[in-house]
Formats: sequence, structure tokens, C-alpha cells
Amino acid sequence: MARYVADLHLHSTASDGTDSPAEVVRRATGKGLRVIALTDHDTVAGLAEARDAGKELGVEVVAGVELTCYVGKREVHVLGYGIHPRDESLLMHCERFQAARRIRAREIGDRLASAGAPIDMEQVMANADAGVVGRPHIARALLEAGHVSSWQEAFDRFLADGSPANVPKLLITPRQCVEVIHDAGGLAVMAHPGLNNQLDLVPLLRDAGCDGIEVWHSAHSEHTTYRLQVMALDQGMLATGGSDCHGAMKEGGPLLGEWGLGKASWEKVERALRGRQAGALQAL
Ligand code: AMP
Ligand code: ZN
Ligand code: FE
Ligand code: FE
Repeated sequence: MARYVADLHLHSTASDGTDSPAEVVRRATGKGLRVIALTDHDTVAGLAEARDAGKELGVEVVAGVELTCYVGKREVHVLGYGIHPRDESLLMHCERFQAARRIRAREIGDRLASAGAPIDMEQVMANADAGVVGRPHIARALLEAGHVSSWQEAFDRFLADGSPANVPKLLITPRQCVEVIHDAGGLAVMAHPGLNNQLDLVPLLRDAGCDGIEVWHSAHSEHTTYRLQVMALDQGMLATGGSDCHGAMKEGGPLLGEWGLGKASWEKVERALRGRQAGALQAL
């Protein structure tokens, strides 16, 4: 029997993954998953295709999105689940972020050129043709240009949070971010608090209105996972999980379905989703 029934953190070509939304769903069936959430960065453009593939293949597709906010200079990701994909303020928020990402990508490109690692920005923008250009696209270009010998080296040397060539996106607060998700009918979940040591920010994100914490994630150690499980209980927050798979974007990156929720954990999330909204996907 499959270990997990749900993987609630997945990226597609609609943002910075390498598999189309339908391909993501197809892979989920291969892993024996019953449920996935597509959580592309700052876009809901992949959701209709994922929903159609889910109907065809018998996989439930939760309408998701991954948004970014900042606490000082620290970048925090917030997942939205069960959002209404045609919500006006959510769409406007995504458009603003996509535009900011395009400007930011050019600036990162300039900084890389100054640092002696020029890349072909036209190619980067073309690779991100859906409009959501991100650091993973730039990491690939650095690798292809031979400036680094691995995707991870691109982040470690140039692109990680706090690195000289990284540039923030729009400096919105956790509260603003959660509000966009709530107004679109969704549940807001703090993404991967164990990535970049953000466990100390959990109470702040809870106070900003987050309903849950992503407890199970490919970047979390077992110890971090235990701590987050306790924090979720302690703070009265929902516990979610997923792989954060980007397909083949990152070599050796997490695989779809290798992290996620078992049956009992999924059923708790499912109840919360049902309480919040009545089938936002059907309204697509
Ligand atoms: P962006 O949306 O442009 O800010 O890029 C965010 C994506 O970059 C994340 O989803 C990760 O896939 C990747 N990423 C961010 N920081 C790191 C890091 N330190 N090491 C490896 N990948 C990272
Ligand atoms: Zn990503
Ligand atoms: Fe993230
Ligand atoms: Fe992600």
C-alpha cells in the first residue's frame, strides 16, 4: 500500500517546474496518490489543466498556490489551499508578482554579469514563457553557461536568500499574504518552516492568520518534523505536507509522492478544506 495518499506541494511548468500540470497528475497516479495540490508560485494558470487530468485519471486536485511575503529581509512562503482560481484580488496579486519577478530577474542577471557570471537573459525569459520567472530558471542558465557545476552551487554561490545576486520580490507582509488567500476562500499554510531555519517565525505567521504549518517537506529533517508536529498541536494549527517537487528542474531534487500526508493526516486537512469552501475547483 502506498505510504502517502496526498502530496500537497507541487510545481509545474506554469511556474518553475518541468512537468506540465497534466503530467504532474499522471505521475501522481504512478505513485498511488489519491490527492495532489498544485502549488505553483504566484499563478493559478495550471489549475484547470490539472483538474481536467485529475477527473480523467481519478486524482483529486486541490486548487493551490504558493505566495511569498517578507518578515524584514527574511523571505517566507505561504501556501493557499482551496482557493477560488478566479478570485479577482488573487489574480491581481499574482499579476503584480509576475511583473515584479520579470523586473527582478533582469536585475539578478545584471548582478550576475557584474559578478563575472553572465547568462543569456533572453533565453531565461523564454524558458519561463508562462510568465512566472524564478531563481530556478536562472540557476539552470548558470549551469548551462558553465559558471557552476550544479544547481545547488548556483544557489550557494549566487542565488540563496541573502546572497549578493538575489533580489527580493514585492515586500508584502505575512498578514497581506494571508488576506489574499483567505479572501479567495482558501486556507493559508506556512510553507517549509524548516527551510532557512524559520521555526522561530511560526508564532508570527500564526498571528498573521495562517491556519496551518507545512510539517512534512522534503527539506525537513526528522527532528524538524517532530518539532513542527508539536508546534502545530501547540498552536492549534493544521499540519500539511508535500514534496515541493519541481520535476527535473533540480537534479537530484525531491520526487513527487516521496513526501506528503498519510490517510489520517489528509482527512484532517480535507475536513478543514470542506469547512472553508465548497469545491472551488468545480467553479473554475
Ligand atoms: P523564487 O521564486 O525565484 O524566489 O525561487 C524560489 C525557488 O528557488 C524555491 O522554490 C526553491 O526551489 C529554490 N530555492 C530557494 N532557495 C534555495 C536554496 N538555498 N537552495 C536551493 N534551492 C533554493
Ligand atoms: Zn519553485
Ligand atoms: Fe517555497
Ligand atoms: Fe514550492
